[in-house]
Amino acid sequence: MKYYSTNGKAPVADLRKAVVKGLAEDRGLYMPERIERLPEEFISTMGSRSFAENSLRVAEAFFGEDVPAAGLRRIVEETLSFDCPLREVEPGIYALELFHGPTLAFKDVGARFMARLLRHFTGGEGEINVLVATSGDTGSAVANGFLGVEGIRVFVLYPKGKVSPIQECQFTTLGRNITALEIDGTFDDCQALVKAAFMDPELNASMRLTSANSINVARFLPQAFYYFEALARLQADNVVCCVPSGNFGNICAALFGKRMGLPVKRFIAANNANSVFYEFLQTGEYRPRPSVQTIANAMDVGDPSNFARIWDLYGHNPEAIRADISGATYPDAQIAATIRDCFARTGYLLDPHGACGYRALKEGLRPGETGFFCETAHPAKFKDTVEAITGSPVAIPARLAAFMQGEKKSVSLPAEFKSFKEFLIS
Ligand SMILES: *Cc1c(COP(=O)(O)O)cnc(C)c1O
Repeated sequence: MKYYSTNGKAPVADLRKAVVKGLAEDRGLYMPERIERLPEEFISTMGSRSFAENSLRVAEAFFGEDVPAAGLRRIVEETLSFDCPLREVEPGIYALELFHGPTLAFKDVGARFMARLLRHFTGGEGEINVLVATSGDTGSAVANGFLGVEGIRVFVLYPKGKVSPIQECQFTTLGRNITALEIDGTFDDCQALVKAAFMDPELNASMRLTSANSINVARFLPQAFYYFEALARLQADNVVCCVPSGNFGNICAALFGKRMGLPVKRFIAANNANSVFYEFLQTGEYRPRPSVQTIANAMDVGDPSNFARIWDLYGHNPEAIRADISGATYPDAQIAATIRDCFARTGYLLDPHGACGYRALKEGLRPGETGFFCETAHPAKFKDTVEAITGSPVAIPARLAAFMQGEKKSVSLPAEFKSFKEFLIS
């Protein structure tokens, strides 16, 4: 399969290049040149097969030409070491729980898959180094996704004192092939250091560097797996799929799923107060702007990267996008009220991101439709926020508690490229 750039000014790439490079030379996002439509027979019999079996078929559609069958099977099976169950919250409304992986958030699926695909392409060629800047959640998903994967070292750069203790322990306590770098600066400083490293000829001559950015095709396409799983388990017509969205990678994978035959009638993109996409749906104009901070902070994105993919997928046509996707946007007060009301009425505890999805689905569902929303993180990841809203204690799952007991190990560095480079070379 070849991958083209959404900016149309870079040469097409093979899968290996798209995975290792992440972003095309023209700063565009890679798109597969074809999206295979899966046979009706496969779709109608999904309910009789396991998550891993169905996912393998979906993975073959994207990666089957480039990765031998046995290797791809192993990658899929290793990735899906946990379930994505569908829970009925109230009649007609289901939560697709994507938080049963190592870091209790959906990014685990893409990060685990990408780590193994990268190993497939670069294994045996000597060590490859993944650099990732994080404001919290990406670092934990990538670090855990790559933990123990042979031939790959990961450096997580995070701003000192600016990530929550729960987030910090998820990438500073791992050891092995994961190194946490505590940068005396902001998230933007961390990102600037990573960018500078990729541009530095001397550094690139002495070590192989790559990123594990969320726009990487190997991180975003595997997210389609759990949408097929949802439809395999949910035997219903007129299904509406609602995705709490920030960078729009997760919903984009669902939209690819629809092109492959996923029987979803329509989609809802739920936003927090960062409503650039919602406004695009109203006006037909995309006007990015700086993000604002909210309690659903993994969705605090003012210029969603994957808008470029959606724009491309729908032929630059706002009407076509509106025919498939509607939007919603909620300020913090409404997110909080939603968590409180849902918990009081149903006993189901939402996290702030899932709360946007639940509310948009509940408000948007029409008679005769059945809906599911992605519950993208476990509420314990946002313990303080959620406890303050409901007034009830949130139990910490064993996996998260284990991270919090681990010994924190990180290397402190100033926010200057010279020290960072010297550290990497040594
Ligand atoms: C990353 C994230 C989102 C947003 O997903 P996108 O793919 O960026 O739209 C939503 N919820 C949680 C918990 C996340 O970590």
